Amino acid sequence: MAYAYDDQNIFAKILRGEIPNDTVAETEHTLAFNDIYPQAPVHVLVIPKGPYVCFDHFAAEASDAEIADFHRVAAKICADLGVAPGDGGKGYRTISNAGEHPVQEVPHYHMHILGGRPLGRMLQKTD
Ligand code: AMP
Repeated sequence: MAYAYDDQNIFAKILRGEIPNDTVAETEHTLAFNDIYPQAPVHVLVIPKGPYVCFDHFAAEASDAEIADFHRVAAKICADLGVAPGDGGKGYRTISNAGEHPVQEVPHYHMHILGGRPLGRMLQKTD
């Protein structure tokens, strides 16, 4: 695996405090903030604080503590924002884009949490 992390990406700037964000949750290893162009009433981005480009990079190279914290923060947000089915919510979708085909815009690993309205099927077949 060969990933080169670009520390000039916009989420790296958010983590350094160079540009503002609308924080939802923060821990030692993880930051979560509202997407600037929300696609649903709930649209939160969860990012690790470490320099990981995408999901497989994070899963392969982050520490167990970073990986556990990331997922616990994401799950707590689903519960806190009232979309987790186990808490009576109507559900949510997590999305993580990696690379070219899914159009990853920001090369710092992030999980989208989307909910608060019907989201339709996951993908529309176009060919
Ligand atoms: P992706 O296409 O998966 O890389 O998603 C990148 C997401 O980052 C998009 O949903 C953007 O709206 C969002 N985004 C870009 N810049 C910012 C920012 N400064 N604050 C919050 N969200 C942002």
